[in-house]
Amino acid sequence: MTPFRHRHVLGIAGWTREDILQVLDLAETFREISERPIKKVPTLRGRTVVNLFLEPSTRTRTSFEIAAKRLSADTINISDSTSSTVKGETLLDTARNLQAMRPDVIVLRHSASGASAFIAQQVDAAVINAGDGLHEHPTQALLDCATIRKHKRPGATDLAGVTVAICGDIAHSRVARSDVLALCTLGAKVRVAAPRTMLPVGIEALGAEVHDRIEPAIAEADVVMMLRIQKERASGPGLFPNTREYSRYFGLGSRAAALLKEDAIIMHPGPINRGVEIDPAVADGPRSVILDQVTQGVAVRMALLYLVGGGFQEL
Ligand code: ASP
Repeated sequence: MTPFRHRHVLGIAGWTREDILQVLDLAETFREISERPIKKVPTLRGRTVVNLFLEPSTRTRTSFEIAAKRLSADTINISDSTSSTVKGETLLDTARNLQAMRPDVIVLRHSASGASAFIAQQVDAAVINAGDGLHEHPTQALLDCATIRKHKRPGATDLAGVTVAICGDIAHSRVARSDVLALCTLGAKVRVAAPRTMLPVGIEALGAEVHDRIEPAIAEADVVMMLRIQKERASGPGLFPNTREYSRYFGLGSRAAALLKEDAIIMHPGPINRGVEIDPAVADGPRSVILDQVTQGVAVRMALLYLVGGGFQEL
């Protein structure tokens, strides 16, 4: 097996097509472990994974914990309310104290963009970015690519020829940023649809085609990915007139869903705000692969923990 080029997983920026495919291919081999009656292999026995989640999370935190446990690593979970950050400790002091206990991997979620890269410079452990502010969410992008490949390019290597429409609050979404980078690197055609106030400057330079309504973006698309409005990160005066209008022009309701290709798949990183960016009937409908994204997430995170957590060296 080719050695993995990265010591940390901080973002998709700087990753090559080969880096991404290495993770996706390995995740496919790990996928089967979760289907077994006994879902555990000894690969990371004796390794310690600390999940330091200083921002809310349901899927990502649980998924990392399950992934680490299925590889037999010891896992420790620290959340905002249970950490000493509520007593005024800085992230750096927290990380240094954790490092003193010799973990092998620190999985970090933090509200500050760049937090993972900063901590990676301060500790010996491998650092995996589980979402840093509005910067990147690389493991979400990798699981999204794994899901798209499974449903749209089974047996293929990359995502060439697949058209993906990403709709919603692109500017404040770390998922959108990582997804656009990963999808373009794998050869997919990416379209984004958002109000101008929710589009980051220079998004076209990343390779995305920009639309100011949902309909032209989803026409003939193979994949439609809906995003939540990132209320916790979007500041300033109203970014759109009202929720009803937002849902009409940028939400995936049954009227917009009727325009989709018969075999298009619908994705969402979660958490869903039902009735805002997506209609409940569409989110739960036959074209939705939202829960399969969650399943792929475990396999992708097992692959990443294996690659940076020391499993690789032992084989
Ligand atoms: N769960 C994703 C994130 O942490 C998406 C979201 O919160 O809307 O970025």
